[in-house]
Amino acid sequence: MKCVAPGENEMRTELAYSEEFNDTINAERAYELYWADVIADKRAFCCPGEACPARYTCANLDTPELELKQQPHYRAQRGHETHLVGCPFDVEIEQLTRTGVRTGREADAGLPAPDRFLLARPADHFKPQTALPGGTGGLRGRGVGGGSGGLRSRRTDFYSVAALVSRWLKARRDGVDGDKTIRVGANQAISYKDMFECIFHEHTQLSGSERVYWGTASIMEEEKGFRIRFFHAVDSVLPGAELPRKVKPSLVIWKDSLQASEMKRLHTKRLMRFSESREKCVVFVYGVPLVTKAKDGDAIYVNFKVRNLDFIDIESMDIYERIKRPIDK
Ligand SMILES: [Zn+2]
Repeated sequence: MKCVAPGENEMRTELAYSEEFNDTINAERAYELYWADVIADKRAFCCPGEACPARYTCANLDTPELELKQQPHYRAQRGHETHLVGCPFDVEIEQLTRTGVRTGREADAGLPAPDRFLLARPADHFKPQTALPGGTGGLRGRGVGGGSGGLRSRRTDFYSVAALVSRWLKARRDGVDGDKTIRVGANQAISYKDMFECIFHEHTQLSGSERVYWGTASIMEEEKGFRIRFFHAVDSVLPGAELPRKVKPSLVIWKDSLQASEMKRLHTKRLMRFSESREKCVVFVYGVPLVTKAKDGDAIYVNFKVRNLDFIDIESMDIYERIKRPIDK
């Protein structure tokens, strides 16, 4: 197991119990729930350990995505009691487990299970959960729904490309994006590194697989939607023939699908900002690039169909700064 120096990021608490949502969730999920108007108080989080008095604040919960200098994360609340002795959610213990200092079951568990990207949210995903009375294996409420497969497995479930992007950035910073794996639906797990396929001048041949395609793009508002066009043209999409000419991949976010999204407040704000300012941005889209020909004429297109707004993430250009790997790794 790779031994990572315990920097600030390594000490972070990944899971907290949301008192407003009545479930144990990660900070990415808390952020989504805040922007879907399900939760409102950044201080209403406590330790998921049964009867543990430790409390958390979800930092950056109310910061619009474009102004985020740092991803949302949990921070211990000052002036509050620390964890119960032996609480499994105490980050100090977690730290020992992760660096393999501990012996016994935890150390034998081996590599963490792959993270999972789930293609559909459960129907009740934005409804506060009904807390069940009584203990559920030392966890509050329903346990770790939507958060992770438990402390030991270190697996996290995601429902949005935005959450996947923040996980990928963290894996790159830690130099583990080639080792850390992610599974989408029933597909085989692949590394974070392989999951993200950049569209740029040195990569003009797209794999055509289900991946997160990303690159610099521009956004234009049209009558029925927002048209996103990547800056760099591609010359082939596998498996298949070369394109007769270079084509800039594009996609449209239809206004009706925007209206239907729980996260419309967040998405609309970003789409409007980039379409009005004509600023360049960085777009991430999960899916498969489709090559289509115009019915009349010989125009040819490479499109992504966005069935669901969870499959798209729009970031400002400064993400290129955050994407950089640390120099010493
Ligand atoms: Zn605790």
